[in-house]
Amino acid sequence: MHKELGLGFGTALVIFLLVSGYNIGPLVLLGAAAAAFYYFVRVKGVVKNFIVNDGNEEHRISFADVGGQATAIKELREALDFIKHHHYAKRLGIRPLKGLLLTGPPGTGKTLLARAAASYTDAVFVAASGSEFVEMYAGVGAQRVRQLFRTAREKARQTGKSNAIIFIDEIDVLGSRRGRVTSHLEYDQTLNQLLVEMDGIKADDAVHLLVVAATNRADLLDPALLRPGRFDRQVRVELPDREGRLEILRLHTRNKPLAADVDLAAVARETFGFSGAHLESLANEAAILAMREGTQEIHHRHFVEAAEKVLLGDRLDRRPAREELWRIAVHETGHALLSELTQPGSVTALTITPRGSTLGYLRQKSEDDNYLYTEEQLSDRLSVLLAGAVAEEIVLGSRSTGATNDFEQAVGVAETMVRAGMSELGVVALDDLPDDVWHQALSRLLKREEERVKAYLQPRKDLVIQIAQQLLLEERLSGEVFRSVLEAGCRTLA
Ligand code: ATP
Repeated sequence: MHKELGLGFGTALVIFLLVSGYNIGPLVLLGAAAAAFYYFVRVKGVVKNFIVNDGNEEHRISFADVGGQATAIKELREALDFIKHHHYAKRLGIRPLKGLLLTGPPGTGKTLLARAAASYTDAVFVAASGSEFVEMYAGVGAQRVRQLFRTAREKARQTGKSNAIIFIDEIDVLGSRRGRVTSHLEYDQTLNQLLVEMDGIKADDAVHLLVVAATNRADLLDPALLRPGRFDRQVRVELPDREGRLEILRLHTRNKPLAADVDLAAVARETFGFSGAHLESLANEAAILAMREGTQEIHHRHFVEAAEKVLLGDRLDRRPAREELWRIAVHETGHALLSELTQPGSVTALTITPRGSTLGYLRQKSEDDNYLYTEEQLSDRLSVLLAGAVAEEIVLGSRSTGATNDFEQAVGVAETMVRAGMSELGVVALDDLPDDVWHQALSRLLKREEERVKAYLQPRKDLVIQIAQQLLLEERLSGEVFRSVLEAGCRTLA
């Protein structure tokens, strides 16, 4: 109505000015600019095409497609059963579940779980990311939130479904504590709108809405989002353990021809710390390597190479000079010898192929993913980290900057030890500890380990040289080859 009135008045004014002989050129230009601004910002800018999946396509994701997340799936299923059996839940007077928060590191399958949740509840799936709601124009974010909820309801109605799941990835972008971004009240408006929409979800709505949000920074979220009645269920989605990694590898190699020598359990054991997304990429890279080699099947070596590529990046074209390579070989041999001493059979591979930002690398097998570490394990870890620099010093007479990263990690381990009361200080209140005492405790721990490493490597200088020479020659030694060179070396030196 307002629009029509404005339009009528505007036309009348233009005609009046024309008849009165005014030059209306600048006025028309100004009007056109205002109309364009309105169109792009208020209309185009607000309307966003959210990803919609009505659940009828071939590639539906189910919980069976999500590996290594048994606990998260169990918790999720329990929550989703309120929606699946909503008549029953309603009869018992259970208030509808409105929000579910998936928290955990990137690439662990949070989006996958939300899509599987949509299949499980036979729901329409509408996805958006927190960043899609952040705009510089006031009110646009809030309008997009309204549009998101409207889209979910409309799509459900169109497809005849009674459930809809709205997935908001990176919710921390729009849901961080209000007032944090003081200059930008737009963020607060958007979050307020989300709260309003969630409060508007009722048990007897024709379409049951569930908002599933994902974040890896739950600590940043506004407490209003987490209060009961909003995102009142949180499901942790952790990095997969060894069994989980194996399950994910199996899922992502289902459609790939594997040679008989492929040992996925070994790959799973050697990929500690990999997320589901890393493992998917590993399986894909292995297939690409097989294709480049022209083989019909994917072999174990392709998986080994792919793991290194995913972890450390592509091989670098520029190669270090020969003296540098020799130093790197000595350094890595030092690490490997201590690794083998502290945990026999732990060396998986040893390489001096420069990749990404690493010049050399020792891969160790971790038998199991630990929750706790003993004092002995931490001391051993320290000695492996320090061994690279010590080997350089013994064989080449000096250290290099190549050990900087090792030292950073070593300091981290030593700090953990002091915190856990494993230093000479015993159990201490860290807040009351003067800086110099803390520093001394760390350096004593590090010094003690360094001496231990020196005492082991010094008498074995020839062995270090022998293995490093082999490594320089071959660029990469597998765990088995390393151990056979080590045994042969020990025999000759004995
Ligand atoms: P982000 O926090 O970065 O958004 P995310 O936790 O949502 O990540 P997804 O987008 O679900 O992670 O995962 C990315 C891809 O990684 C998936 O498409 C899938 O191929 C693979 N993936 C991740 N986790 C798993 C898993 N648990 N099982 C099988 N595949 C997985």
